[in-house]
Amino acid sequence: MAETRVLTVLIVEDDPADALLIRRQLERARELTCRIEVRDRIAAGLARLDEGGVDVVLLDFSLPDSLGLDSYRRLRDRHPELPILILTSLDDDALAVSAVAEGAQDYLVKRQVDGRLLARAIRYAIERQRIESALRVSEERYALAVRGANDGLWDWDRAAGTIYLSPRWKAMLGYAEDEIGDRPDEWFSRVVEHDRATLRSALEAHAGSSEPHFELEHRMRHRDGRELWVLSRGVAVRDASGAVTRMAGSTTDISARKQAEQQLLHDAFHDGLTGLANRSLFLDRLSVALAGRRRGRQGGFAVLFLDLDRFKNVNDSLGHGVGDRLLVEIGRRLVQLMRPSDTVARLGGDEFAVLAGGVRDGAAAAHIAERIRERLSQPFSIEDQEVFASASIGIALPSREGASAEGLLRDADLAMYRAKAAGRGCYEVFDLELHTAAVQLLKLETELRRAVAAGDFVMHYQPIVSLGDGRIVGFEALTRWKHPERGLVAPAHFIALAEETGLVVPLGWFVLERACRQVREWQDRFPADPPIFMCVNVSGKLFAQEGAVEQVLRVLERARLAPESLRLEVTESVVLDHGETVMRQLRMLRGLGVQLSIDDFGTGYSSLSYLQRFRYDSLKIDRSFVRDIEINDSRVIIETILSLASHLGIGVVAEGVETEEQLRKLRTLGCPLAQGFWFAHPLDVGAAENLLASGEHW
Ligand code: C2E
Ligand code: MG
Ligand code: MG
Repeated sequence: MAETRVLTVLIVEDDPADALLIRRQLERARELTCRIEVRDRIAAGLARLDEGGVDVVLLDFSLPDSLGLDSYRRLRDRHPELPILILTSLDDDALAVSAVAEGAQDYLVKRQVDGRLLARAIRYAIERQRIESALRVSEERYALAVRGANDGLWDWDRAAGTIYLSPRWKAMLGYAEDEIGDRPDEWFSRVVEHDRATLRSALEAHAGSSEPHFELEHRMRHRDGRELWVLSRGVAVRDASGAVTRMAGSTTDISARKQAEQQLLHDAFHDGLTGLANRSLFLDRLSVALAGRRRGRQGGFAVLFLDLDRFKNVNDSLGHGVGDRLLVEIGRRLVQLMRPSDTVARLGGDEFAVLAGGVRDGAAAAHIAERIRERLSQPFSIEDQEVFASASIGIALPSREGASAEGLLRDADLAMYRAKAAGRGCYEVFDLELHTAAVQLLKLETELRRAVAAGDFVMHYQPIVSLGDGRIVGFEALTRWKHPERGLVAPAHFIALAEETGLVVPLGWFVLERACRQVREWQDRFPADPPIFMCVNVSGKLFAQEGAVEQVLRVLERARLAPESLRLEVTESVVLDHGETVMRQLRMLRGLGVQLSIDDFGTGYSSLSYLQRFRYDSLKIDRSFVRDIEINDSRVIIETILSLASHLGIGVVAEGVETEEQLRKLRTLGCPLAQGFWFAHPLDVGAAENLLASGEHW
């Protein structure tokens, strides 16, 4: 039991004579080699202990800054593992005894001890302290053992470089008691390589006191090769200087729990039927790909959105069992077709998505879509039946800056819808223009819908002038959208959208009602013979619905307006694009006295032949001819229209008259009516009334 290493002994003693005496005695003692340090105050002693490296303390019981038991407790509380010997004078013997009762290793009466006695006391103090620590560890070990009979126990003597591994520990990994030795590597070498560094650093973190406990889930290799998930826990045993001499703890097999966890995790991110990634996982992978691309670390990729064509038919005619099998088989084919690093997901129902890497451009993505189509076109054999499938595919590339995973998937979805519209089994690549247009259009549509519901439109009226006497004979009603931010918006910016969305129908009725009431009011206030008329532009859609004739009549009735005072302006395409219902209802209205006018005449189809097939009351010469009236061709066309019109007995209005010269030419050619900026711009109600009141003529 001889101590051979150099011990550091700290003497906390304020009496220099006593301190010197002890130092001498210790230096002479052959049993010990020690380095001696002296402090004369408890505070200085504590400070020295905090620096570490002290093996034993000799504590004087009467110090200037601390007394008796107090001194002892302060040292012990700060350094519980440190052996402390009490130095007393004869008279405080009793106190020293109680210090020992509280855990001090021994007490020595000053000036009664010699070197040998002192050395022996020190040696035993250190030894006893160590045994007590070891006992504590073994108690801990016992507690660990009790905690779970299934736990394997380990006790690693770092100083000796050996490890104790319990039989249960070894059995857990499939080994018999004598098949594993006592080198620490018996443990570390059986840790799965990937986790080895983590285990080492977790152990070191605890040894270095940065972590109060050692606890880590890691994988180990079973004798039969499979991986086990274990939970290892432990505590360090420190020597007098705080250095770790041993670590002991338990290792528990938690594979079952881990497997359950992983199953849950898998279920949360996979489709139950096909086992493919689900939408969440797909979006997650897509975000990763996008982030990689932003950091310039990843090449191009594409998102393909697949929607099966007529999958409902399969379910309905062959049953859900076959439908499910078909989905599984389709998933399998997609996976086979793609690279292992690509992601194939089932988003739900009959929708699949593919995240394909290494795609440079739309053409490359289209190539993949081609291959998918081809592969899906081969019949599936399910329950002895041949089942056919095809998919419409939308493709999106991450070309937009700042596109999110959701945004990209939605782009692909949108492209898929277009592909579906183009015919089944097609694919379509989404592009930026499409996106911007789609977003803007969607916004505009929402706003327009709101405006139509709220009636946020105002009417402007442009006078129509008789070229014979230069007086106003009628007006054209032109709609302006009262937009909350953009002010008055011209029809060029919303009529097409209104047509497309069908909003043109409610808007049309609104305009008709307003215009009819307005002209009736003016007829009353500004009588003329014949009374002034009102031109209203109408969409063919208005007359595609049955009952439009009755509705027009009700509007006229409410306004108390004669049908002859209303001119409906339709473009030539209205007649072409809409079918029999439109023609029939327009014809009926004309029979009831409502005037029909062809707008923008000359720009459309075979205009002249239409004039003969369908009777109109008047036509409007498109302003492009008026603008070019100086050019020979245009003048000839105007002449032809005028002569044809007079031959058929229908009226003519020249649109877009902007200059005096144009007006003069039209007069010379004998054009009866005209309209344009030269006379007046489209005017709000007040301005139109002022003009009527002024009796202005041209
Ligand atoms: P439109 O029926 O040919 O109406 C004449 C358009 O020419 C008006 O444009 C008018 O402001 C403009 N204009 C009039 N004089 C001149 C001129 O001297 N020079 C030039 N360059 N332009 C002139 P606006 O008001 O922007 O209307 C555009 C088109 O929108 C109309 O063409 C009409 O087809 C349509 N529209 C207007 N209001 C309605 C409506 O309530 N319902 C429907 N369905 N369409 C409407
Ligand atoms: Mg018009
Ligand atoms: Mg026009």
